[in-house]
Amino acid sequence: MDTVTDGTKLRLALDVARAGGSSVGFVPTLGYLHAGHESLLRRAAAEHPVRVLSVFVNPTQFNDPSDFERYPRDLAGDASLAERCGMTWLFLPGQEDMYPTPPLTTVSVAEITEGMEGAHRPGHFEGVGTVVAKFFNIVGPCHAYFGEKDWQQVALVRQMIRDLSFPVQLVACPTIRDQRGRALSSRHARMSPAELEAAVVVYAALQDGQVAASDGGDVVATVVERVAAEPLARLEYAEVRDGRIHVAVHIGATRLIDNVAVAD
Ligand code: AMP
Repeated sequence: MDTVTDGTKLRLALDVARAGGSSVGFVPTLGYLHAGHESLLRRAAAEHPVRVLSVFVNPTQFNDPSDFERYPRDLAGDASLAERCGMTWLFLPGQEDMYPTPPLTTVSVAEITEGMEGAHRPGHFEGVGTVVAKFFNIVGPCHAYFGEKDWQQVALVRQMIRDLSFPVQLVACPTIRDQRGRALSSRHARMSPAELEAAVVVYAALQDGQVAASDGGDVVATVVERVAAEPLARLEYAEVRDGRIHVAVHIGATRLIDNVAVAD
């Protein structure tokens, strides 16, 4: 595995590989990798001879500066997992590489970004759309792997690829959970044992919502009630959209999101 910080150098190497007939699998992340990310890396590795992992804690997608500051970082651990998963390139751009000057051009996707994360994290999706567009231009034609845990993000990227003609195929990957149902998240690293215990309520509430749906009950009211029963949790939103139940829940200083199909 080669580590690179210079996007131009990466693009040239990938262009050479593509000219030789190799396809490229690309996994963009914020780092502090866990088994959820690993599932994306392993899938990219199974499907492409050339595999690129990017790790970049993108400041423009953090609407809350303290969330950016607190975001966990472990480059050594990420590099070792990337190596084990057979990545070809580890792309580690610095802030000055990605944003030599504050960008005056941004990518925003209408409609899809309304409500849910878009409503509660002002500016978040402009940050995501812009940085993903930059990454797609740096990496070039590829298959890009994204997790369904960030459902609205997947929808945004799919639309952006179509609207702006990026030569990218999106591959949406299922959410990886621990034995207690918690969707793996880098943010778990900043939670206390009591908060982690409370985080079990997120998936439990989604499952209650599924049961309510199959019984013809009120899905959202059911989710609201279940989260309210956990003293450490505060529900930000619960919504049914695209045949899925979506939630955002605050537990202490940490905000978690998750979603499941209404009917499995
Ligand atoms: P992040 O580093 O949080 O930006 O995540 C990088 C990619 O990994 C995104 O496409 C996420 O949706 C995906 N991802 C994060 N957590 C999980 C998980 N538990 N299962 C599957 N994919 C995930």
